[in-house]
Amino acid sequence: MRYSRFFIPTLREVPAEAEVVSHKLMLRAGMIKKLASGIYSYLPLGLMVIRKVEDVVRRCMNEAGAIELLMPSVQPAELWKESGRWNYYGKELLRIKDRHDRDFCYGPTHEEVITDIVRSYISSYKNLPINLYQIQNKFRDEVRPRFGLMRGREFSMKDAYSFDMDDAGANLSYEKMYKAYCAVFEACGLKYKVVEADSGAIGGSFSHEFMVLAETGEDFVISCDSCDYSANLEKAICVNDHKKSGEELLPSEDVATPKAKTVEEVAAFLGMPAEKIVKTMIVRVDEKLVGIMVRGDHEMNEAKVKNYFNASVVELASHAEIEEATGGPLGYSGPVGIKVPVYGDYAVAAMANYCVGANLRETHTININHGRDFEFADVDDFRNANPGDTCCKCGGKYVITKGIEVGHIFKLGTKYSASMNATYLDKEGKRQPFIMGCYGIGVTRVAASAIEQNHDEKGIVWPVQLAPFKAVVTPLSVKEEDVVKNAEAIYNILNNMGLEPLLDDRDERAGVKFNDAELIGIPVRITVGKKTLERGCVEVTVRKTGVTEEVPVAECAHRVK
Ligand code: ATP
Ligand code: MG
Ligand code: MG
Ligand code: MG
Repeated sequence: MRYSRFFIPTLREVPAEAEVVSHKLMLRAGMIKKLASGIYSYLPLGLMVIRKVEDVVRRCMNEAGAIELLMPSVQPAELWKESGRWNYYGKELLRIKDRHDRDFCYGPTHEEVITDIVRSYISSYKNLPINLYQIQNKFRDEVRPRFGLMRGREFSMKDAYSFDMDDAGANLSYEKMYKAYCAVFEACGLKYKVVEADSGAIGGSFSHEFMVLAETGEDFVISCDSCDYSANLEKAICVNDHKKSGEELLPSEDVATPKAKTVEEVAAFLGMPAEKIVKTMIVRVDEKLVGIMVRGDHEMNEAKVKNYFNASVVELASHAEIEEATGGPLGYSGPVGIKVPVYGDYAVAAMANYCVGANLRETHTININHGRDFEFADVDDFRNANPGDTCCKCGGKYVITKGIEVGHIFKLGTKYSASMNATYLDKEGKRQPFIMGCYGIGVTRVAASAIEQNHDEKGIVWPVQLAPFKAVVTPLSVKEEDVVKNAEAIYNILNNMGLEPLLDDRDERAGVKFNDAELIGIPVRITVGKKTLERGCVEVTVRKTGVTEEVPVAECAHRVK
């Protein structure tokens, strides 16, 4: 590629709206342009990097036996009504109507569509297992889109879905994806950690998140300094809370039925003294009154509740008043504050894995995903819940770091196959629901995370695998014949070697060219100048170390990896 004929609109100024380094650098390097909040155009350089991430993802998915397809981004409401998600997905689901007034949505995820495909064509155990994936844009109307591609509203995701005939098979499919994900993040040159994540209220399921460790991450990672335990904050709280109370986790069938309606019943259910439930408040979420009881393990005041529940506190009320206002409590929360997700008309309150109240069967207590649906307030709450930061497995000490969730794998079980009647015939000729898993990688988020981990004061330092160009050839002058001739020759050699070079053929000062090459993060710069040519040499500069070496012209191409 010739710089003069390419399009890299670099910026000198740091745009004011950008808070994190990846956002700043992507804007400055001319990789992305904002169109609306959380919605970006990928400019040529940005697109090149995204394609690199996709290449890695495709290769690893194909190697793991997954098969690529592509599903539409616009989906009909009917499918979402079948799975039961139309009513409780909430405002992240962008709902639209067509000219015939039919309901559609812009897909935030594709479980419904893939389940519909598989139930249409796969009817025998002989065709199982199967794992289908796509790389497709998603739309989620995030409450707080920010940090550029890190939390966009429109973003690119690789999503895969596995279908198995039994639990053992599903576990194997899950394991394969676990390994494939490790391969993806390694190949992208990222430092990451796999953490246990909470799978919410679906009994028997499990889940892992892949976290890129970075200070600017929005997630907390809890790891033990003495054993291999590692979990996200929510899971760590769940596990510890579970351990402390000694209660068994509830399977999904049970949680849809209110277990406890009075304060005494809640207390008995949770195995705690009733007087510990000290405060009760009526909270208004989206014009709907929701009664929430807050367990008084730690200080809960009105400001905190407002913050946690992202809602307006109407008043502090007695339990009786709440029950009257809401026709019975919807749920109870604690010991740490959690944000209450609103699914359509319904709100959910749950305590860690104990979902003790719900006002409709099989709506909002199914597929609750901590971390996705609930946001814990902060690390202090975790510390309050776990005095001494003691590991739940070995008694070692927890270390808390911040991370960016770049991947998430999830054993779904029969949630979608059961509700959408997706079945196959087993060896005995009996109908059985598919056992499913789903697996996501944030493709655009991976690109941003790579910058969070690899940059310096001059700009991006791409890991070789994601670099848009492996090398830039920089003639110090475009007016001197010998310099131009040699630069062109080196450029051609690199091109023929498949090393994706950029030739900075612009008539600019050397300083400008160097700054741009450093800003956009090209791993190797080959500088062609009159003086070094007189000695038959060029300069090779490695972006990461900043080290420059004089190398004979004939050898320089071999310095590029
Ligand atoms: P988060 O907790 O960050 O909101 P999520 O748990 O809602 O993410 P999943 O439903 O697990 O996301 O989707 C799979 C992957 O898609 C995530 O692991 C993440 O890498 C990516 N992703 C999710 N939301 C966004 C977003 N708004 N912008 C960019 N990437 C995203
Ligand atoms: Mg999440
Ligand atoms: Mg989310
Ligand atoms: Mg997730």
